Amino acid sequence: MGALSIRNVRRNYGPIQILKGIDIEVEAGEFLILVGPSGCGKSTLLNIIAGLDVPSDGSIHIAERDVTYALPKDRDIAMVFQSYALYPNMNVAQNISFGLEMRNVPKPEREAAVKRVATTLQIEHLLDRKPGQLSGGQRQRVAMGRALARNPRLFLFDEPLSNLDAKLRVEMRAEIKRLHKIAQVTTVYVTHDQVEAMTLGDRIAVMREGAVEQLGTPDDIYSRPATRFVAEFIGSPAMNMVVGQCAADAITAKGIDLALTPAQRSALHAANAPEITYGLRPESLAFGDAGLPGTVTMLEPTGPETYALVDTPVGHMIARVPGKVPHAVGERVFLRWSAEDAHLFDAKTERRVA
Ligand code: ADP
Ligand code: MG
Repeated sequence: MGALSIRNVRRNYGPIQILKGIDIEVEAGEFLILVGPSGCGKSTLLNIIAGLDVPSDGSIHIAERDVTYALPKDRDIAMVFQSYALYPNMNVAQNISFGLEMRNVPKPEREAAVKRVATTLQIEHLLDRKPGQLSGGQRQRVAMGRALARNPRLFLFDEPLSNLDAKLRVEMRAEIKRLHKIAQVTTVYVTHDQVEAMTLGDRIAVMREGAVEQLGTPDDIYSRPATRFVAEFIGSPAMNMVVGQCAADAITAKGIDLALTPAQRSALHAANAPEITYGLRPESLAFGDAGLPGTVTMLEPTGPETYALVDTPVGHMIARVPGKVPHAVGERVFLRWSAEDAHLFDAKTERRVA
């Protein structure tokens, strides 16, 4: 059964609803991501799971036990924050074993735990150092070591990599993934970084203004975004969106017919929406001899691929094409795509139609 159940969790601050009824079931060993823009309620939800905050309504169950009002220390969890919160006067070994000491774990066991964690995290050579003598990445590792030493039932991370530079972030991301493979501890991981979400998560909950917009595997979220918000939040550069008018199972924008598959046409028919937002990921666009006409306004070569900004009658489109673009800024071009790559959203409700 569920390792963690979040049931109808609400949190109000005065009249403001910060969390508007969150329901998530997390399986044992699962790596769940909470992702969303700053201020959407990720940390509030994580703190409620951790017992640092109490919901206004709803409940939290860990391994089938209702812990909604239990103290953090009675929840069998370990938490890693963005600020590592290491004890500056203790060395690395003491930092790692301190939590165990507080729980009256006997010394030989504590020493074994420190050894085990230090080996896993490859920080054996740092055990005698104080936090002040460590780099950012090393401190991050110690913070994770402290959490790992406890063998918790549940791991909670709140943006643990935000303070690291880009290269280290990639390294630590791989490290967290490796640790999760080894330890298989159920994990809830908060981030605003969509790449972290996509690469780490077994499932991702995309949050917006205190509610879950979509809960699914990275592939669900990317290939079949449930709403326009999810479609635009996940993926970089963001999905191109064209608002078109819907008539007789066709979509036109500025007099241009937007390509549709038979399945999309019948979905449109069923949805009966007057306006549709037609979404295309930048990598779904290619240059061709015919198609949507436009003018190249900017080229951004990144090496393996190029982002091309094209001004078209239906708005600016970003194409992400492999290698170099055989066109110059100012040149007239045509953009092509397959209808099956288009994502259709009801322009009013913003929900996926096809
Ligand atoms: P996130 O972690 O997704 O960036 P938070 O969970 O920290 O977002 O915050 C969600 C919202 O709740 C924000 O708008 C924030 O201003 C508000 N908030 C957080 N804590 C309090 C508080 N103690 N009193 C009032 N509002 C708060
Ligand atoms: Mg936060």
